[in-house]
Amino acid sequence: MKQLVIANWKMMQNLDGLEACLNKAKVDGLRTLIVAPSYPHIPLVLGFGVHVASQDMSRHETGAYTGDVSAQQLTELGVEYVILGHSERRIYKHETDEHVALKVKMTIAHDMIPVICIGEDAEQHKKKQTTKVILAQLAKALKGVKKTSELVIAYEPIWAISGFQKSKKKVSASVHDIYTTHSHIYLWLLDHGFKNAKVVYGGSVTPQNASEILSLTYVDGVLVGSASLDAKSLNSILLA
Ligand code: PEP
Repeated sequence: MKQLVIANWKMMQNLDGLEACLNKAKVDGLRTLIVAPSYPHIPLVLGFGVHVASQDMSRHETGAYTGDVSAQQLTELGVEYVILGHSERRIYKHETDEHVALKVKMTIAHDMIPVICIGEDAEQHKKKQTTKVILAQLAKALKGVKKTSELVIAYEPIWAISGFQKSKKKVSASVHDIYTTHSHIYLWLLDHGFKNAKVVYGGSVTPQNASEILSLTYVDGVLVGSASLDAKSLNSILLA
């Protein structure tokens, strides 16, 4: 099975950067590259022949929801994956587990694959509540979801995401913590009958630490923010 490298470009890429990156990106290698650009850039990114994830999606099918983008609109373009419940949306846009659960079902109903982000905050990490917190998030996100559904679970400890870190030196979770937490997620998924799920890690993945993280059992790929914006750094991770 090919590991996934999901490049979450957030609101950080412009047209020149997009072209410079994708002109040189190693899209047909050892790992599957999935790019999550801003909505207006989706058709351009698809033109480079890479898989595309949306960074979010409306929980409504259709209607008067200014600023929202629907599942149907995404599938019409050729989007295959939808990132849901990213901590930046949970924190800045007040998305709840209930919103995430509705969107997961909507994504699957439209034949796209949800990339469901779960992760503990710094306080919960310090108090060793990680497993309890993330399994509760997982249970809520997957309530009522068909067991055969194709899923990607992204374990993203909030404190490890570079955008939430103040110092210049970015700190990912330790390989020990990633291994342990991913094994708990894997077990939970198997116990609950979800056999079609991949589990990826996100949080300050860089060309320096990618190889170690990607070599871990239970790690089916990585979700990368800042280090995915330019071709040199992205290719180092794709080839790590
Ligand atoms: C992310 O946005 O999901 C993320 C993991 O960002 P970064 O790689 O910059 O920490």
